[in-house]
Amino acid sequence: MNPGESDGNRKMSDLSRKDQPSPTEPTRLHTDAPGVGTRPRVGIMGGTFDPIHNGHLVAASEVAWVYDLDEVIFVPTGRPVFKLDKAVTNAEDRYLMTVIATASNPKFTVSRVDIDRPGITYTVDTLRDIQRLRPDSDLFFITGADAVAEIMRWKDADTMWDLAHFVAVTRPGYSPSLPALNLPDQKVDMLEIPALAISSTDIRRRSAKGMPVWYLVPDGVVQYINKHGLYSRGGESDTD
Ligand code: ATP
Ligand code: MG
Repeated sequence: MNPGESDGNRKMSDLSRKDQPSPTEPTRLHTDAPGVGTRPRVGIMGGTFDPIHNGHLVAASEVAWVYDLDEVIFVPTGRPVFKLDKAVTNAEDRYLMTVIATASNPKFTVSRVDIDRPGITYTVDTLRDIQRLRPDSDLFFITGADAVAEIMRWKDADTMWDLAHFVAVTRPGYSPSLPALNLPDQKVDMLEIPALAISSTDIRRRSAKGMPVWYLVPDGVVQYINKHGLYSRGGESDTD
């Protein structure tokens, strides 16, 4: 079976995985009850992906398995609202690296909605656009533990809860307590995933120093970075 392929188990209508015994021991949500939960379940993995790395891919793969998702759409951001003061590699390079990294997984797709929308990227716009593209699906927004701490400050945070269920994956070095964040009840789950202490910042730093990034990002992404000299000179950026 290829990565991400379904074993034929079927869905449940409940969006949440609150019935799980412990977030540290993920077990799969599914039911064989006929006629239950036939709406497609679609994950959305938003990120700057500068570059995409194996931490992103493990997060998406784990959430897809635990929540029995039919598809995970990777959405590279346009101008990320939280990185306006930082140089970011141009959108086409980030998009192409995301396509290369996800190509082998039959459940993974990539959307251009954020990079084709002019202006700053807000998550609520991403959700609305994907909802338009997948009107009959239940949406699951996948986010890292560092980003979930910011959620309440995102534009139109109140309306986002109606558009998607949020899954916050653990990330080494970040341990927000969900109750302390005062997030709406039953709208955000915390999911422990295999810890990969990888960040795009670290990949860029290593590349700039000539250090290896093999096995931290997919092989094709290493080759793309080298071919285009992306991070060797501090990166080709939208803001330089
Ligand atoms: P940067 O260092 O440039 O901020 P990043 O590694 O944080 O890059 P982003 O593109 O900012 O990557 O992240 C996209 C999403 O993936 C965010 O929700 C982030 O929290 C999550 N994420 C990134 N790296 C990991 C990881 N190693 N494990 C789990 N989640 C991650
Ligand atoms: Mg980040």
